[in-house]
Formats: sequence, structure tokens, C-alpha cells
Amino acid sequence: MLIDPYSWIDKSLETIHKADWYRSVQTIQGRPGAIVQLEGRSLINFASNDYLGLAGDARLIQAAIAATKEFGTGSTGSRLLSGHRELHRQLESAIASLKNTEDALVFSSGYLANIGAIASIVGKRDLILSDQYNHSSLKNGALLSGATVIEYTHCNLADFKTKLQQNRQQYRRCLIITDSVFSMDGDLCPLPSILDLAEEFNCMLLVDEAHATGVMGKNGAGVVEHFGCTQRPLIQIGTLSKALGSLGGYVAGSASLIDFLRNRAPSWIYTTALSPADTAAALAAINIVKQEPERRNHLWRNINNLKQFLIEELPNWELLPSESPILCLRLPTPADAVKVGQQLKIAGIFAPAIRPPTVNSSRIRISVMATHNKGDFEQLLEALKSIK
Ligand SMILES: *Cc1c(COP(=O)(O)O)cnc(C)c1O
Repeated sequence: MLIDPYSWIDKSLETIHKADWYRSVQTIQGRPGAIVQLEGRSLINFASNDYLGLAGDARLIQAAIAATKEFGTGSTGSRLLSGHRELHRQLESAIASLKNTEDALVFSSGYLANIGAIASIVGKRDLILSDQYNHSSLKNGALLSGATVIEYTHCNLADFKTKLQQNRQQYRRCLIITDSVFSMDGDLCPLPSILDLAEEFNCMLLVDEAHATGVMGKNGAGVVEHFGCTQRPLIQIGTLSKALGSLGGYVAGSASLIDFLRNRAPSWIYTTALSPADTAAALAAINIVKQEPERRNHLWRNINNLKQFLIEELPNWELLPSESPILCLRLPTPADAVKVGQQLKIAGIFAPAIRPPTVNSSRIRISVMATHNKGDFEQLLEALKSIK
């Protein structure tokens, strides 16, 4: 009897179904925006990371088309071989200028930026302290680095400090890694206190601004700017694919850090350079972030309005603490979350159920955009009220 070496896959899928953890893709048609066409229906979109509404902006589209016409569709090689263009350097300068850092380096995604940066700055003899709710890319970068990884309780400074005191001395370098806006909860890391402890214990700090760039801080530079920590020693990661409406990731920091990464980060060295279209769109987006603060102001008015409505008008729902465009309503089980997600969809609202293993408690996750209007929020509230 031959045994099928792949038979475990179907069994594994069965287990996923039984736990209500099964997920599949949903097809969106047309351009992204506050209203999207999903499976033939028009829905109000609370599922997007396009916080400033730039992914469908005519200026980004025009920049991508112009770059494609001038430079072609592919960059044809890695940056160190044949893939580098002046456009990449312009984008890196624009990121460094927005972040107020000496330099920046663009990766093909935020995931690759995290993996590449973490795995190249620490190794076997080193320690990583990691918030338990960190994004998958931080966690997998930590694993790939070969360093000892210790997780601390989410945003808990007492636990964080205890773990530093108990472990720091046994290792050569220490890297602290944290999301700045936590992607599935919407709360912020206590950055100033983490920085103070990093300094006290001689640690590096890498902060992931994926959901904060373009959104947080007076100039949209992120949580680092929001907390007034711009001039402090930091490694800043981010993505071009959320508020910036394009695709790609970056590391921003000191000139020597960036120079080191260009020579040591495998996920930058051994992958094809960002396409001309993605690069030009991201560059156009950063210019808009710099020149149109009213977009960010509008986003924040929307966030504060919706938060207030949820607290005042929906006492039956549990809103998780948030200081960002990400607002989560907790539900008891994965099955409940899926059911509410489906009911919302019937009511014309696209807001996804987030379940284990992504998070440990199930929820509906609502992402606010600058381009939502009052009517969108009213429809959301009506739908939620009719459910519970
Ligand atoms: C989305 C996200 C990433 C990954 O960015 P991509 O550019 O989409 O690969 C990394 N970190 C955090 C915290 C994120 O939310």
C-alpha cells in the first residue's frame, strides 16, 4: 500500500473548518475607495488600509502610468545589479525627509523590510524583546535572525522592564521590536517609555509604523513624530502599501544603518527592485501627504466622530481601546464574528471578522478612511444596532 504523502493537507483543512478558522478571498471590482464593488454589490468599505483614500487617486494613477511609459513595467534586476533607477533614490530621499532621518531604503514590501532588517542586525548571540501582539513580519524576522526571542505582555512596561533586567546581560546586542500602531487592535505602543528603557539597558529599538505613516503625527511621519521622539536613536520600518496607496516597504534611520543594510539585508539584496509604477505612485503619495495635511485632519475628524458615535450609541458593543483609525468591536467566538461580518455585508457594510490565529479574541475590525462621510457612519451604526 502506497501512502499519499499529501493526505495530511485535507485533514488539516478539515480541522481549520471545524474551528471556524477557515478563510478565503473576496473579489473586489473597480477602483478602491470608501465605496467598493464586492461580488457585484456596492458596499461601504471599512476593510481597507487606504486611510487617506490615495490608492484610487488620479495623481498616483497618473504617476504610475507615466513611470511605466518611461521606464517599462519591470525593474529587471536587483538594486545592486541592474534594477536601480533614479526614481528609487528619489523615493528614498522623500521617505527620509518625511521621517526626518538621515537616510532610508526601499524594500519590495513591508514584510521583507522587517525580515531583512531584523535578521541582519541581530544573530545567535543576541536577544530580541518582542511585544506579544507584534505583526507576523516582526515575529518571523525575529525567528529568522536566530537570536533568542522573548515576548513581553502587550504594551506592559512592568513586564518589559523585568524581562530586560533578567536577560539583557547574558547577550551581546539587544533589539526591541514593536508595532507603533498595533494592526489588529488599533492601540499605540508606549514609545517614549520603551525608548527610555532601551537607552538605560543599551538596546536598539525597531518600531514598525505600517499603520501610522501618513496617519499619525503633525506631518504624517508616524507615532515617532506623534510622541516627539523624532531625534532619538531608532530604526523605523514602514510600508508604502497602506496610507501611501502603493506597494513596497522601507527602513528609515541613520546613514550608516542604511549603508549596512544595503550590504547585508538578504531580502533587499536578492530580490528584484520595486517596479517603476509602484515607486512613482509612492513618491506621488508622499508629496500629497506633505502638501495636503487637510486629508489627515479630515481622517482624524472621522475617527473621532465614529468613536464617539460607537461609545454613545452602541453600549451593547465592546469597543477595544484605540488611538488610531483601527476600531475593533469584540465578539465572544470566531463563529459570532463571522456571523456579524455576514450580517453587516447584507446591510451594505464591508467590515471583516478577525479571528484566531490572527488574534486571540475574535472581533469585527473597522478601518476609518479620510474619504468616508457622515452617511457612511450612519449606515454602519444602523446596521450594528439592528444586530445587537
Ligand atoms: C501590513 C503590515 C506589514 C507588512 O507590510 P506590507 O508592505 O503589506 O508587506 C508590516 N507590519 C505591520 C505592522 C503591518 O500592519
